[in-house]
Amino acid sequence: MIEAWIGLGANLGDRAATLDAALGRIDRLSDTHLCAVSRYYFTPPWGDTDQPEFLNAAARVRTALTVGELLRGLLGIERDLGRERSKRRWGPRVIDLDLLLYGDQCIEGPELTVPHPRLHERAFVLVPLLELAPDLVIPGRGRADALLGQLDDNERAGIRPGPEAGYLPPNDDAKKR
Ligand code: AMP
Repeated sequence: MIEAWIGLGANLGDRAATLDAALGRIDRLSDTHLCAVSRYYFTPPWGDTDQPEFLNAAARVRTALTVGELLRGLLGIERDLGRERSKRRWGPRVIDLDLLLYGDQCIEGPELTVPHPRLHERAFVLVPLLELAPDLVIPGRGRADALLGQLDDNERAGIRPGPEAGYLPPNDDAKKR
C-alpha cells in the first residue's frame, strides 16, 4: 500500500456537498482507503479572479492502485460529479481533484506529474496539507511549511477555515492530531 495525497477544490454549485460527495467516492475507489480529511477552507480564486470563491481541502489515502489507476479514478469522479472541461484556464469548476503526492515518488509523464507541478506554490493546497501533516516533506521540494513560508503574503491572503468536511472516514486519523 502507498500513501497518497489528494487536493480537492470546488467553486460552483453547492461546494461543500460536492466535496463531501467526492470524498465518499474516493473512499470507495477499489483498493483505496480514505485515512484523513482536512477541514474545508475558503480560498480566493487564483489566476482568473473574476469567479466565485473556492472551497479547498486535502485528503490522505492508502492505496494499492498504481499511480495511473489512481489518477484515472480521480478523473472519473470529476466526470461523475459534473465537471466540464472548459477552455478557460483557471476558470470556475464544479470539482477539481489533483493527485498531489504518491508516496515519495517523482513522476514526470505526458499525463501525470507527481508531486503535482504547482503544489509548492499554492497556499490553498499547502494550508490544508499542513493541517493534516505539519512535518510533510514534498519530494524534490523540501518541507511544506518552509514552502508556504516562502510564498508572498498575497498568495496566502484571504484563506480562512471553513466547515468541517461532511464526509469523514470512519477512523479519521486526523482526529488523532
Ligand atoms: P486540471 O483538472 O485542469 O487540473 O487538469 C487535469 C489534467 O492534468 C489531467 O487530465 C491530467 O492528465 C493532468 N495531470 C498531470 N499531473 C496531474 C496530477 N498530479 N494530478 C491531476 N492531474 C494531473
